[in-house]
Amino acid sequence: MNLLLIRLIIFAVLFWAGLKLYRMYREWKLEQDAPRRVEDAQMVRCAYCRVHLPEADAVRRDQLWFCSDDHHARFLEEQTPS
Ligand SMILES: [Zn+2]
Repeated sequence: MNLLLIRLIIFAVLFWAGLKLYRMYREWKLEQDAPRRVEDAQMVRCAYCRVHLPEADAVRRDQLWFCSDDHHARFLEEQTPS
């Protein structure tokens, strides 16, 4: 009877340790994935104000990147002599 109780306790401890290890592994995996996603986001530079921003937030016009359509218009104004 006493041996069975010890076995039960050992099983419970092993189960608890396994669960804790699994949670630690999951947190570690999330931390490993998170920075890579940031690196994947390609940074581009606005041709007008030279500010760096993610490609998803930028606008592409005539092979150039701009932070907004407004800066694209201003860039064109400065390029074309009046
Ligand atoms: Zn800009």
